[in-house]
Amino acid sequence: MTEALISAENLAKHYDAGGGGRFLRGRGSKLRAVDDVGLSIMPGETLGLVGESGCGKSTLGRLLIRLLDPTAGSIRFEGQEITGLGRAAMRELRKSMQIIFQDPYGALNPRMAVEEIIAEPLVIHGAKHGTETRQQVTEMLDRVGLPRRALDRFPHEFSGGQRQRIGIARALILKPRFVVCDEAVSALDVSVQAQIVNLLQDLQRDMGLTYLFIAHDLSVVRHISDRVAVMYLGKVVEIAEKRVIYNNPQHPYTRALIAAVPAPHPSRRLLGKRENIAGDIPSALNPPSGCRFHTRCPHLMPICKEVAPPLTETQAGHQVACHLITEA
Ligand code: SF4
Repeated sequence: MTEALISAENLAKHYDAGGGGRFLRGRGSKLRAVDDVGLSIMPGETLGLVGESGCGKSTLGRLLIRLLDPTAGSIRFEGQEITGLGRAAMRELRKSMQIIFQDPYGALNPRMAVEEIIAEPLVIHGAKHGTETRQQVTEMLDRVGLPRRALDRFPHEFSGGQRQRIGIARALILKPRFVVCDEAVSALDVSVQAQIVNLLQDLQRDMGLTYLFIAHDLSVVRHISDRVAVMYLGKVVEIAEKRVIYNNPQHPYTRALIAAVPAPHPSRRLLGKRENIAGDIPSALNPPSGCRFHTRCPHLMPICKEVAPPLTETQAGHQVACHLITEA
C-alpha cells in the first residue's frame, strides 16, 4: 500500500485568548481553531478542504506545513515525524512544502520586480543571482503562462489572475512536493478561477505535486479535488472521495453546503436531501458541547448535546462524525 505523503493525527491548535482583548483577558479561555484532527494525503492527490469562514481550515493548512506550531498532535511527511523539528531541519524541509495565498497582491512585495519575487526562495536557500537563477525563473514563467517580458515589471502592472500566476511561480520555484492552496482562487473572477484551477492541475501533472486545496465554496473544489474533507468549528466532520461527497453526503452540515451549490441543471439537484441550517457558525472560543454542529442541526437528538460524535468509517474511505450515522 502506498504511504501517505503527509498525514496528521490528533492535531490541535489552541490559542490562549487571555491576551486577546479586554473582554477575554484573565478568563483562561482557549480559542480552539483546530481540535483533534486526523487526515492523510496521498502522493499526487488533491484533498479539497471546505467549510465556512472561521472553521479552522487555513489554520490546519498552515499547521501541516509547520508555518504554525501545533498545540498537540503529530504530523508526518514522507513517513518522518516533523512536529518537533527545529529551525534548521524545517528550513530544509520548507523546500518541499509551500503555500499559495488567497491575496496574490498582498503576498507579493510591490517594490520587487517579478524576477526578484520569483527568485527570492532560491536566493534564501543559497542560490546566487545570475544566469542559472534567471534560467530557472524564466522556465517557471513559461510554466505558469506569463510572458518573459514580465521579468522586469512590478506586481501593480498585472491583473489579479496574472498576479496569482506570479504567486504560483514563486511557490513552485523550489520544486516542492506538497502545496497548500489557501483560497488560492477565491478572490478571482469566475472565469479567471477556472483558468487558475486548470493551470494548477497542469502543474500538478507535470511536476508531481500533491495539493491541499482550501476553499469555502464546494463548487470551487469540485473540479480539482480527488477527495473532499469538510470542516466545522475546528473539526473534520466528513471526508470521502469527491464523487461520494457530492452524490451521497451524510453529515447534515455537508448536505447543507452541497444544497447551497447552484446545480448546473435541475435534474442534478440533490432530491430529498436538502438541509437548511440557520444562524452563523458559533465562536471557537466557546464551542458548543457534544457535537459542535448541534446548535444549527435540524436533526438534533438529546445525545448530540452531550457526546461528541467520533469520525467513523461508514464505508471504505468515507468517514462521518454524526450520531445519526453511529446510532442508526
Ligand atoms: Fe446533527 Fe446530532 Fe449529527 Fe451533530 S451528531 S450533526 S447534532 S444529528
